[in-house]
Amino acid sequence: MRKTPRVLTPASRRAIIQRYQAAKHRLLFLDYDGTLWPTGLDERSPQAKAEHALVRSVIRRLTQRTQTTVVIVSGRDHTVLAQRFKGLGCALAAEHGLWLKEAKQSSWMMVEQIDTAWKIPARVLFQQAMHAIPTTWFEEKPYSLVWHYRNVPARLVKAKVKIMRRALQQLTKQYPLRLIMGRNLIELLPASINKGRATKHWLCQYQDSFIIAAGDERTDEDIFSVLPRNAISIKVQAGSSLAKYLLPDDQALRDLLAQLADRKTRL
Ligand SMILES: [Mg+2]
Repeated sequence: MRKTPRVLTPASRRAIIQRYQAAKHRLLFLDYDGTLWPTGLDERSPQAKAEHALVRSVIRRLTQRTQTTVVIVSGRDHTVLAQRFKGLGCALAAEHGLWLKEAKQSSWMMVEQIDTAWKIPARVLFQQAMHAIPTTWFEEKPYSLVWHYRNVPARLVKAKVKIMRRALQQLTKQYPLRLIMGRNLIELLPASINKGRATKHWLCQYQDSFIIAAGDERTDEDIFSVLPRNAISIKVQAGSSLAKYLLPDDQALRDLLAQLADRKTRL
């Protein structure tokens, strides 16, 4: 059951770092947007380049240690994710776990073949939404559709969001689809795809690892729900969750990851 996670106290932080340092193998599941990357930051903004370098730096420091597997589990398109994390030695799960890539391989594996007949009626609805509110935009991924409205004040988009939700819920009755009401976005994707399924792929490979998982949205609850009891789960940003601990933002998570990566962290 989801509840309010505990704030990460200095004592719990020390205990996590100690367990991390002592572990024979470490396995980290990290969401990208809102978890490693600041929520809503415009990727064309001057700040974005510096943020991108910070994210890459902390991931590189984590993967440089032996016996450490980092998995980025994101809703992003797999080509975008591949480019963002190129050369960093981390495994990737893209488009909510439809595509998986092992850390030491360059090729992607698609977890199942997906029928896309549903995209024809769904695309019409997404295009209508985009045209109704011009500063919003529609993203078509190979196996999902997304309507983004983060550039629009909530009061201007509220009514349209409600209409879209209702129309897309109808489609989920006709096709095996899942509707995600995200932060400033609506996404429609195959029902069988979720981040928990992707997480299990690595959990099976690395049993007896010390596990840390972090995420900020509903889709990340699927990661938390499949973790063993002794794993450390972290909700980034306030809200109810299956996670044990709470951190306020991406910066706080990156600080913790930097401490974990550093062998000389003082406790
Ligand atoms: Mg996120």
